[in-house]
Amino acid sequence: SSFQEFKLNKQLFNAIDDLGYEKPSPIQQKAIPLILNGHDVIGIAQTGTGKTAAFVLPLLMKLKYAQGDAPRALVIAPTRELVMQVYENLKELGKYTDLRAVCLYGGIGAKKQAEEVAAGCDLLVATPGRLLDIYQMGVLNTKHIKTFILDEADKMMDMGFMPQIRNVLEILPMKKQNLFFSATFPEKVEKYAYEFTDFPEKVEV
Ligand code: AMP
Repeated sequence: SSFQEFKLNKQLFNAIDDLGYEKPSPIQQKAIPLILNGHDVIGIAQTGTGKTAAFVLPLLMKLKYAQGDAPRALVIAPTRELVMQVYENLKELGKYTDLRAVCLYGGIGAKKQAEEVAAGCDLLVATPGRLLDIYQMGVLNTKHIKTFILDEADKMMDMGFMPQIRNVLEILPMKKQNLFFSATFPEKVEKYAYEFTDFPEKVEV
């Protein structure tokens, strides 16, 4: 199996090459085709399996170019560190595209982040609380978000973020693609996985 099978555009292929990824990891092999086909996906994979690129790559393929000012994809992660990790992966893999990513997290003032959002972005990576804060400030148009990704959902649940995730979902369009990633999948996480996705395909490594 090789990255060629996904019919990646040249910008992505070159970025993968620069990173030295030789072939897709098992979670990437399973999840990428499903995501490209528009399915909602529940992905169960731990850190270290390449699970971030499993959703970042198809996201970059779908978005292709900077467009308009409103974000078209939203990734939610539980902590500043995890938001930064997804953002780094996005920057590395998207380095030859003109897509604009902005990350939002707490612990620092919201003003600069709000300005970045207002300046225009294609992808948002955020913690749930700070995303809602920025939305309240009136600078964020969520109407064009077509892909919603919940990363590290089990951790999000342990941290008590699920009520906030429901609030995030309320400000997003009904019709969108939902991707739910979790390292573990106990019953309590499964319940949320099926609440937040429609007819999902489940992939596990
Ligand atoms: P993650 O599981 O998303 O935390 O990724 C773990 C590490 O694997 C990161 O440093 C990625 O850059 C790297 N990685 C992701 N996909 C691949 C791949 N197909 N081949 C080699 N390394 C990869």
